[in-house]
Amino acid sequence: HRVELRSAQLFERGQRVFPGGVTRTTVVRHPRPIYVERGEGPWLIDVDGNRLLDLNANFTTLIHGHAFKPISAAVAAQLERGTCFANPTEHELALAELICGRIPAAERIRFVNTGTEAVMFALKAARAFTGRSQIAKLEGTYHGGYDWAEISEHTDPSTSRAQPPIALGNYRGAPQSVAAETIVLALNDVARTATALAGTEGKLAAILIDVMPSRCGLIPIEPEYLELLSDYCRRSGTLLISDEVLNLRQDFEGASARFGIKPDLMTMGKIIGGGLPIGAIAGRRDVMEIFAQRDSHGWLLPQGGTFSANPLSMVAGLASMQALDRAAFAKLEALGDAVREALNAVIAKRNVDMSVYGRASLFRIQPSRRIPRTYREAFAAEGPSSPMPRLCEALLRHGVNLPRHGTGVLSTPMTDAEVRHLSDAFTAALADIGL
Ligand code: PMP
Repeated sequence: HRVELRSAQLFERGQRVFPGGVTRTTVVRHPRPIYVERGEGPWLIDVDGNRLLDLNANFTTLIHGHAFKPISAAVAAQLERGTCFANPTEHELALAELICGRIPAAERIRFVNTGTEAVMFALKAARAFTGRSQIAKLEGTYHGGYDWAEISEHTDPSTSRAQPPIALGNYRGAPQSVAAETIVLALNDVARTATALAGTEGKLAAILIDVMPSRCGLIPIEPEYLELLSDYCRRSGTLLISDEVLNLRQDFEGASARFGIKPDLMTMGKIIGGGLPIGAIAGRRDVMEIFAQRDSHGWLLPQGGTFSANPLSMVAGLASMQALDRAAFAKLEALGDAVREALNAVIAKRNVDMSVYGRASLFRIQPSRRIPRTYREAFAAEGPSSPMPRLCEALLRHGVNLPRHGTGVLSTPMTDAEVRHLSDAFTAALADIGL
């Protein structure tokens, strides 16, 4: 039993100002959201005084946990000097130099405020560069709220299993024209994807991918599949865009490098802002030049943003990235291995129908023994009979905040003590729900 008295009071207030009581759908929780009082490293303290191990980390942003001292100090110092200017600052140069010096595909970069915006501008850049309007993306992947990137973000995996994926708008009234200009591909399904791409040469500006898409069940893109897409892009002059808003956290050089590709464009966000709003588009120098070109009518691709490259996000991001040296990534890798091993040991001991997998600081609990290879496999077990919502609810009672799709994220301040807390809570939660 958890106390949620104060959260209940705040949610009641929320009903009077926000549709549905909240100002982003992603915090909705039945019967009410958990209002947070503060964060301490990897821990959340809610307004009712409950202490929760935070495996959400603001949707994978907080790679150093909450209130990381070097970030707080950098932001506090910048607050005294001003928060935003209609001028460039040296801080944006420092963050850009760090990222371009470290990430092989990032030859040039532009900063924006969110991952959504980064994906939107990457797609626009691909269009402006190729002079083509269509794009292709994977079924089930999440890339933020831009209409084109949202196509077929969630289709029903149980009813559509036998059919190839189709382009579907993400909300009632979504323009048909957007779906008509978007091709949806089935992750890791070489045959279906080859068929879907046949005859599209010369029409696609870009293929937008995520090498380990969280909403597809954190499934790594397979080498053979990646080869098919890269090959198509090379042959047809289509740009490959790797969305690393989430997966940049996989490695010192980012996820594309880990997967052995050098995309034409990539998008970033989350960890590069140190917990302040950020997004970035980076990539091949000649492609990125599209942002700097103009003709007699003006810029070929206008890109601004009142708060883009604001110095608070820049100094916070720099502090975050500077602390992410190779040793920090090695620590995150080891933590991830320890969590996967500990949770799989609990599963084996209790003989439950689950598996835990993932890479680096990301892991996922899947309610079946077989590790999925495709989006549809990953969510085939979802539905009323899935134990995941009950498991997440039970974990909360034992002091663990795990997002409801079962994908958890680790951070640098975690130690063996947090791994033990998680595996003990997992054992107790499974017992609670009768597994
Ligand atoms: N792309 C990916 C892969 C993401 O995970 C997210 C956010 N979860 C976005 C884009 C959108 O980023 P933002 O929420 O900053 O707009």
